[in-house]
Amino acid sequence: MFSKAFFYSFTAIALLLCTSVYAAGNITIVNADSPGEGLNDQTAATPVTGNPGTTVGQQRLNVYNAAAQFWANRLNNQVPIRVLANMDPLSCSASSGVLASAGPRTFAINFPNAPVANTVYPIALVQELSNTPGAANSYELAATFNSSVGTPNCLSGGAWSYVIGIAPVTGISLYTTAIHEIAHGLGFLTLVNQNGFRASNGISFYNDTYMLNLVDDSSGTRWTSMSNAQRAASSISNDLAWDGATVNAALSAFSAGQSPNGRAKIFSPSSYQSGSSVSHFDTSYTPNEIMEPYDTGDLPESALSNALMCDIGWVCATTPVAPVIPVVPIPAAVTLISPSGTITDTTPTYTWNAVSGASDYVLSVQNNSSGTAAITTTYSASAAGCSSGSGICSITPTTALTAYDQYQWSITSENSAGQAPQSTPKSFTIIQPPAQPASNSLSVSGGTYTDKVEVSWGSESNATFYEAYRCTSSLVSSCVQIYSGSATAYNDTAAQTGVTYYYRTKACNTAGCSSYSVSKFGYKAYVIVPILLDYLLEEE
Ligand SMILES: [Zn+2]
Repeated sequence: MFSKAFFYSFTAIALLLCTSVYAAGNITIVNADSPGEGLNDQTAATPVTGNPGTTVGQQRLNVYNAAAQFWANRLNNQVPIRVLANMDPLSCSASSGVLASAGPRTFAINFPNAPVANTVYPIALVQELSNTPGAANSYELAATFNSSVGTPNCLSGGAWSYVIGIAPVTGISLYTTAIHEIAHGLGFLTLVNQNGFRASNGISFYNDTYMLNLVDDSSGTRWTSMSNAQRAASSISNDLAWDGATVNAALSAFSAGQSPNGRAKIFSPSSYQSGSSVSHFDTSYTPNEIMEPYDTGDLPESALSNALMCDIGWVCATTPVAPVIPVVPIPAAVTLISPSGTITDTTPTYTWNAVSGASDYVLSVQNNSSGTAAITTTYSASAAGCSSGSGICSITPTTALTAYDQYQWSITSENSAGQAPQSTPKSFTIIQPPAQPASNSLSVSGGTYTDKVEVSWGSESNATFYEAYRCTSSLVSSCVQIYSGSATAYNDTAAQTGVTYYYRTKACNTAGCSSYSVSKFGYKAYVIVPILLDYLLEEE
């Protein structure tokens, strides 16, 4: 979880300085799922409270976007944060399972404006405090949610609920789960391990910003003053607490959850629970806290978790902005234009009608002859020349298809809200003219017949008809066509007696004809005229 990335990120941050200013409260979800699954699941869904999505994937993405907005409104972050999100099967049984896993992508220390020296901060917070945006296409958080939840072998008692908002739901709220997981990625976690060791870059050990606030409630000793063994003992003491100014101030709103010494209790059961111990609030809060390690019944509250974010270094909004749920409509399905039918190009250009609101188009080309996928590529609308959302999109992939095979293709339009249904597919077959006929396939009679020159040839692959030519020399410029048809022989009765001709053929199909075959010569025999003996005898 925390190894070499630590050191490299520190170096990268020190070199990158930028003074750009961004819109406040900027957390976006990057959909990492493949077409048709997870966040792109096309299964039809009925809209639920707060969530107008009409497919399962669209509803899931709406929930993630709303959860991202939840924290953006509270942290008021200036530097964009991107969350790489997907939905895949995670470990699970019928009675228990992992709902999701998430965390910061990396960490750094001693960056510009670091609040405490030699202390590890999650990368989203590093970038915010140093006003240093991540590279384009990078992301600061990763979150995977369990797509199996609610199936017979995975928490069969409750499926995901896609209701947006903190409200009673049937099943397990993906919304509160997503808020919880994003919080971990924003820094709600310690890097101290079960044995009390702090974060290391392989050379030294460092405090992390979360553990700065941890304290043994009874003794008042902070984790920063403890040995590894003492921290390990504290993490299973049931006596671990948080001592940070903002959390301390927010604690009075809770009727339970305070430690004996009036601090916020941190989850530290006597048996260490990997992934849960230390990096969550205790389960004893009333009302329930959203950063408790598991659901303990009542609806969760986020005030304390929000306060904790301020204690670890986020510059929190003084008054949370009212949540705005951005709902981007999924684009309409695409209508294809070409190719279809019979074509000759092995790298055809695909064209279709643009649809409004599509950011990308997924081209899928299937080889029906071999039953394999030939091309699956996502193109941005601008790459397809139709970013305006109208007109014709056009793409020419460089992947060469196989001549004489049959293909089916389709386009799926998509944007941040999800994918449209796939377009009605079109099919095409690539046909190319046959190859030059084999040199030994042509046979021409030479003096065998007096009434014709017999020309015959073998059949050629991919040919549906043939052309035969009579030439007066070996030059093709002297050739005239004497036959076109599906037969493989022709009797040239129009050849003049006593003249030697050169014959050639071409193999043809609807895509055109091959080049000329090599020539073979042939001729008609003279007619032998019998001389009458009677005539000769008259002279006697
Ligand atoms: Zn958690």
